[in-house]
Amino acid sequence: MNLDHMYQEVILDHYKHPEHKGLSEEKDIQVHHINPSCGDEITLNLSVADGRVSEVSWDGIGCSISMASASMMSGLLTGKSVADANEVVGAFLALMQSKGTMTGDENLLEDAVAFAGVSKFPARVKCALLGWMAFKDAEFQIVGK
Ligand code: ZN
Repeated sequence: MNLDHMYQEVILDHYKHPEHKGLSEEKDIQVHHINPSCGDEITLNLSVADGRVSEVSWDGIGCSISMASASMMSGLLTGKSVADANEVVGAFLALMQSKGTMTGDENLLEDAVAFAGVSKFPARVKCALLGWMAFKDAEFQIVGK
């Protein structure tokens, strides 16, 4: 099994069994982001308490890349301090802007390194970033910076 195939399996598995999908009752803020070029949509609820990402939940429709990426994002960021979450988001953005030249820091990104290959395809980068940009937007509205 080659690496690309393994990564496709990881993405498909998150698409079929998404984490943190289904909007929480309580939230500090809700944002809605769309990716018109593909038709992906996400609504994201975020709660921050004591400098920590206490809850990320989301719902959406779209392609397997956008939905799997939102699943990994929510799993990775929930429970992290705001500073640590920002570090992970920064690492993912850098990976997706790398045009296939980076493999991603597995310590920070865990399963999300599976999107390294997607960074070669500009049209799909927006799909992979949708959930992460929604998180950034929601966090900015709560925390500022
Ligand atoms: Zn898409």
